[in-house]
Amino acid sequence: MKVHEYQARALLADAGLPVPPGAMVQTVDDAVAKAGELLESGCGRVVIKAQVHAGGRGKAGFVKLVNTTAEVRDAAKFMLSNRMVSAQTPPEGLVVKRLLVAAAVDIAAEYYLAITVDRGRATNTLIASAEGGVEIEAVAERTPEAIHKMPLHPLMGLQPHQARSLAFALGFKGKQTGQAVKIMLALSRLFIETDASLAEINPLIVTPPTDDAPDGRVMAIDAKFNFDDNALFRHKRIAEMFDPSEENPAELRAKNFGLSYISLDGNIGCLVNGAGLAMSTMDIIKLHGGEPANFLDVGGSASDEAVAEAFRIILADDVQAVLVNIFGGIMQCDKIARAIIAAAKEVGFTVPLVVRLEGTNVAEARRILDESRAEIPVMVVATDFADAAKKVCAAASVTA
Ligand code: GDP
Ligand code: MN
Repeated sequence: MKVHEYQARALLADAGLPVPPGAMVQTVDDAVAKAGELLESGCGRVVIKAQVHAGGRGKAGFVKLVNTTAEVRDAAKFMLSNRMVSAQTPPEGLVVKRLLVAAAVDIAAEYYLAITVDRGRATNTLIASAEGGVEIEAVAERTPEAIHKMPLHPLMGLQPHQARSLAFALGFKGKQTGQAVKIMLALSRLFIETDASLAEINPLIVTPPTDDAPDGRVMAIDAKFNFDDNALFRHKRIAEMFDPSEENPAELRAKNFGLSYISLDGNIGCLVNGAGLAMSTMDIIKLHGGEPANFLDVGGSASDEAVAEAFRIILADDVQAVLVNIFGGIMQCDKIARAIIAAAKEVGFTVPLVVRLEGTNVAEARRILDESRAEIPVMVVATDFADAAKKVCAAASVTA
């Protein structure tokens, strides 16, 4: 699960990391009011930031530094009435419903700091760079030596000596070093405590020197977290941060029926049971020259309603053919056949529907499908996996 920057900032602040004050708002008037408060309290500038589950906001014009409430109004109006398009959004962009209004800070240097799961090394890894900011992907590509990676102990996380050596490698000076070490250790603790899969601060900044802080201050001014969905049951506060409006509507609809749905780029809709069968179904479709448009996993216990909803979701993707590939283990094939027929009748199919069933009571299932052929003329019953893939690929390429 992803959260918004304002929520990530709250988690950081509660864990003791220095984060400039700010608040989330949903209207232009609230943005102006909040910015007014911040400006009155003595911060010279405020920053208005679109809150969407995608980065690249700075370059897209959705992070704006402003000095007056009139400028706040313009910036907030612009962001709430335009879709944000960046390298990390779909081409049509994202609607912005929430803004963060925060105290802006002066920046002397920008760093990158993140903890994520490195599956290659099978361990959590801290990633840091002195070249943080908006171009970290380019830095990683052009000058990979500028990115430091530190594998972490799975239970103990980042150790103080590791944090210190990283702080030196990043070039922190004087009092900055202690602050950076504290931030890294706190981020590591937070990562473990919250069952995060990504905790990223970009940029981590150092402010210019002042009389009371001659080495400047180290602070987090942007943050991004991803959490392990399977661990959310033990993190009520984080689970409550879920924002359904940021999710793919079809995936959300599927989730509400206990189905898992993944949208892809091709033109063959796939209804399967089990993630393993989903993967092998994708593979065999590709092997026969087709491209899956999606896959919908109905899991182990698909009710008639869930199967009907599954078909509706699949068909909403503008597919040229649909493959139902189900192995009846605990779930019996005859029951599935009946659910498919009921759902197909209810939903109304206009594209070819290839059905391949295998497993418990399959003979009875085939008989049921055969009997319904007249009622569902687009239905083709396949004899086995390869036959199903060939038939659905042929059907999709004819209608495509
Ligand atoms: P992103 O582009 O979506 O990652 O959004 P960020 O919050 O990281 O902002 C992008 C860039 O805007 C940062 O790298 C900074 O250079 C700049 N920026 C953001 N907040 C501030 C601020 O408070 N003060 C200054 N001077 N620059 C800021
Ligand atoms: Mn950023």
